[in-house]
Amino acid sequence: SIPLGYFGGIGAASKNGILVKGSNYLEGLNNAGTVIFDKTGTLTKGVFEVVKIEPENGFSKDDILKAAATVESFSTHPIALSIVRAYQKENAAPFGNVSGHTEFSGLGVSAELDGKTILVGNGKLLRQENVSIPENPKTLGAFDAGDVQTHVLVAIGGVFAGQIIISDAVKDDSKQTVADLKKLGVNVVMLTGDKKNVGDSCAAYIGIDRVESELLPNQKVDFLEKIEAESRAKNKSDKIVFVGDGINDAPVLARADIGVAMGGIGSDAALEAADVILMHGQPSQLVTALKISKKTTRIVW
Ligand code: ADP
Ligand code: MG
Repeated sequence: SIPLGYFGGIGAASKNGILVKGSNYLEGLNNAGTVIFDKTGTLTKGVFEVVKIEPENGFSKDDILKAAATVESFSTHPIALSIVRAYQKENAAPFGNVSGHTEFSGLGVSAELDGKTILVGNGKLLRQENVSIPENPKTLGAFDAGDVQTHVLVAIGGVFAGQIIISDAVKDDSKQTVADLKKLGVNVVMLTGDKKNVGDSCAAYIGIDRVESELLPNQKVDFLEKIEAESRAKNKSDKIVFVGDGINDAPVLARADIGVAMGGIGSDAALEAADVILMHGQPSQLVTALKISKKTTRIVW
């Protein structure tokens, strides 16, 4: 028989906008040894804004924005949405003639536009497609007051055309959440598909000491398994919690002992794969869930 306390716990969680898909997950949260957070859309708002365009090799800002927006109009990634919004703010004209649109998970997008291959994404994508990029494309702007800047590289016809700099903001409750989790004795880690310098400065700002960057979706799973092995070596009953928004992190969400998805902006697939859903998309709801779990487990046993 299922102890009554768990129903009370699930009800209390639900009143706080936390959907728990089974009493075992609520019990498991009480043994959370490590919480791994995804960056974009989880600790940050995941709503980007284009702040600057830096053309190179004789291209203009307009060339870059038009090409990038046209190709990104096929993608639902938050980066894509921001580039399309920036283009549409200035241009009523329709997009160009595109074919062969491809999305590379965790890397970017490509398509043929007016006979030229357009690539929009990170350095890994451009290198993979044999576009030569400067050794060290312009370094990031200051990381300041929770403003996270990501550089999106654009290539037109095999030539590096420049960068679109977009910014995201750390969620209001991210810092406090990490501090609260540490106080509860939980080990806190961050992972991201974003560049190392962006991941490092963002984690430092939020108060997370360990971060792994430039991870593709399957590498996120490998990283979780590494953390899990380390955690279990110290304490056999440790549970590994992963919190993500489901964009490029669905596999790791499914693999974690307890997969937690952000409601609101999360994808349907993520909500399906998750064991726990934070309906308001606030990291601090995880702290509430842990506290409910502790109380409930105490009542039961
Ligand atoms: P995170 O792990 O921080 O949530 P993602 O795994 O979604 O980030 O993406 C990792 C990186 O891949 C991004 O920082 C970006 O450089 C690149 N990328 C992914 N999708 C796109 C896209 N549609 N347009 C441009 N860049 C993209
Ligand atoms: Mg994400």
